[in-house]
Amino acid sequence: MNEAYQWLAAHSRETAYLRSIKKLIAWDQRTFIPEKGHAHRAAQLAVLAKLIHERDTDPRVGEYLSKVEGTELTREPESTEAVNIREWRRAFDLNTKIPQELAVALTKASAEGQTVWEKVRPANDWQTFQPYLERIVTLKKEQAAALGYDAEPYDPLLDLYEVGETAAGVAAVFAPLREATIRLLEEIPDEFRRPDTGIITRHFPRDLQEKFSRAAAARIGYDFAAGRLDVTAHPFSTGVGPGDARITTRYDEHFFPMAFFGTLHEAGHAMYNLGLPEEHWGTPRGEPVSLAIHESQSRMWENLVGRTLAFWQYFYPAAQEMFPALEGVSLEAFYRAINRVEPSLIRVEADEVTYNLHIIFRFELERALIKGDLEVSDLPEAWNDKVREFLGLTPPDYADGVMQDVHWSGGHIGYFPTYTLGNLYAAQFFAKAREDLGGLEEMFARGEFAPLLAWLRENIHAQGSRYRPRDLVRVVTGKELEARYLLDYLKGKFVG
Ligand code: ZN
Repeated sequence: MNEAYQWLAAHSRETAYLRSIKKLIAWDQRTFIPEKGHAHRAAQLAVLAKLIHERDTDPRVGEYLSKVEGTELTREPESTEAVNIREWRRAFDLNTKIPQELAVALTKASAEGQTVWEKVRPANDWQTFQPYLERIVTLKKEQAAALGYDAEPYDPLLDLYEVGETAAGVAAVFAPLREATIRLLEEIPDEFRRPDTGIITRHFPRDLQEKFSRAAAARIGYDFAAGRLDVTAHPFSTGVGPGDARITTRYDEHFFPMAFFGTLHEAGHAMYNLGLPEEHWGTPRGEPVSLAIHESQSRMWENLVGRTLAFWQYFYPAAQEMFPALEGVSLEAFYRAINRVEPSLIRVEADEVTYNLHIIFRFELERALIKGDLEVSDLPEAWNDKVREFLGLTPPDYADGVMQDVHWSGGHIGYFPTYTLGNLYAAQFFAKAREDLGGLEEMFARGEFAPLLAWLRENIHAQGSRYRPRDLVRVVTGKELEARYLLDYLKGKFVG
């Protein structure tokens, strides 16, 4: 075997071990660390980040890459070697294209931006936040210029989160989704617009919620011998490595859906991580493809599985037995309560239908900011215009308007589209799974989730990063990514 390739693979794997250790101590930092351990933990993380950065930008990576590119190893573009070389090249270029000075400035501005955002958001203080966001937007434009682009400066920023994706590509799938969603909203009947949501805001004791969530996560296929469920203020999942993918959730004793669907969501992420091909761990062939594909897995288990009537035909008797609050509540009433559709101001609380509208207008705004078509000083007004146009609402303040999300304050411009792309991929994959497997709903109603998980493992998880997202959806479903699968699903569910 080629020596340069062997060196690159060993280098990649060793760096992956460092990243994995970093993930583990970052998980601990958010879960069980003693209060006085934070300063030392921050120092540990900084050292690891430095080591990882040195290894990622090691000039030998560039040298060895040029020795293997264009050789026998890259002849078959989907072979393990060709895939690894392709993705190592991408990462090396990204890591070395940004001047050191700019990288440091970005890190600093993002850290400051987020700190200030956390502090001033509760006080609704946009004026103080504005210069910090202006600084971030300026630096992100510089970053786009350093990375280079063909069509527009938003493209390389988006590509950082969603490999191979472009603004024009996103706009092409978002446009029909936006039009049809706004029309769909008008057709949704009252049973979903105004269900009795009092049912799910009764008292649901925390320990019982935990027991129930764990049982459901295990039933859909999350292996607790390879995972954990703990509590954090902001739920997340982390794939430490083979046999170790952990999740967290948060409980609200007076709002059943929060912990339950949050757990299904994070379990979906974890099951993807646990399904990656172990023999390729530490190289791109064994890594997740992108944020949107990751999100397609979490959203599928949370929504396309977890919010179906069939799913609850199986789980509802156990839920009724566990929670006295559900005594006398019919399955249908419960199903409608967890599926209420109603335009609202806050993205993270939005339902399946309106959620995508929140994302589409954020994409339009951040694209305009980076293009230079919109100034940060005009952002609050532009935001309110979009909320009126898309959702028919007017934000009462900045805190629940333009300042509601953490993303921009932390320099994450180009991240938002991955959420809705995730919904689109989920619906398209799910439609194909149904075509291949037959009556999924009948299986769910019997508590059988293994066939779907096996299908996802084989078609998506086991692929690692062999294909870029758009290629993956084409290979798996035989079609380009299209809005109609998500639209058909939403229409079928809410309008019939
Ligand atoms: Zn997620």
